[in-house]
Amino acid sequence: MAEDTGNDEKVVFPFHEMGLDDRVLKAIAKLGWIKPTLIQERAIPLIIDGRDLLARGRTGSGKTGAFCIPLVQRILDVKAQHSSQTALQAIRGCVLCPSRELARQTFEVLQSLTSSCGGIIRILDLGTKDVATMKPLLSDVPDIIVGTPGRLAEHLKAANLNLDALTNLIIDEADLIFSFGYEADLRIILAKLPSIYQAILTSATITEDVTKLKKLVLNNPVILKLSEPQLPDSSQLSQYVIKLEEEDKLVLIYALFRLELIRGKTLIFV
Ligand code: AMP
Repeated sequence: MAEDTGNDEKVVFPFHEMGLDDRVLKAIAKLGWIKPTLIQERAIPLIIDGRDLLARGRTGSGKTGAFCIPLVQRILDVKAQHSSQTALQAIRGCVLCPSRELARQTFEVLQSLTSSCGGIIRILDLGTKDVATMKPLLSDVPDIIVGTPGRLAEHLKAANLNLDALTNLIIDEADLIFSFGYEADLRIILAKLPSIYQAILTSATITEDVTKLKKLVLNNPVILKLSEPQLPDSSQLSQYVIKLEEEDKLVLIYALFRLELIRGKTLIFV
């Protein structure tokens, strides 16, 4: 097991030196991502190399791109190897997230990253409709599925899809998967996977649950413990303290949101 703390000299390994397909590079440029974030710089080459990975990365670190870019690259490589795409159409990539909202955001990143691929990569967000309504979309066999373990387990139980050809499993925010009560669903999913696949776990913290999950899904992984600050950079984060009487709290909160004085992800401590 190798460990990378990212503490050595700051190398900037640009996207165009990572062996990525031109269509992926074009999509990255369209997103306005000029250079990789630290986690992307370290994780993408390892994932492309086929390694299993446990990456400690908080929201805002660019972790979604770090696992989505090599996933899209992998699917393009597989498609390039086989001339008859319809015969070999199968679910090859699966991204599990602890919430529907996170799954939707990951789906959107994947869509952006495949925007220059001319529709040859199909991605499905399992959370958009109920299980029965989703069935016809699954019979159309997407290349990548994104969803919560709960929703995927429901589809497996209903035999709406099979994961026999899966090559890439990603579990995002792995520390929350167990605490959100998905352990049983995850076990149902793992039982349906082929014996060999590449697995990636991302997690903001390395908890006991993550260590358990690591043992369950990762094979000789590289551990990326990048020493990034736990909070976003000060250019991305504003902090305020407002002192007021107890009875004014509700009206102040109401006014802040109603007048859209606060935008973006917000944490309020009272
Ligand atoms: P994440 O940590 O994956 O939730 O990403 C946080 C934000 O960073 C998202 O808004 C991404 O669009 C953005 N982002 C990801 N990678 C890059 C990059 N290489 N350059 C600039 N922004 C990025």
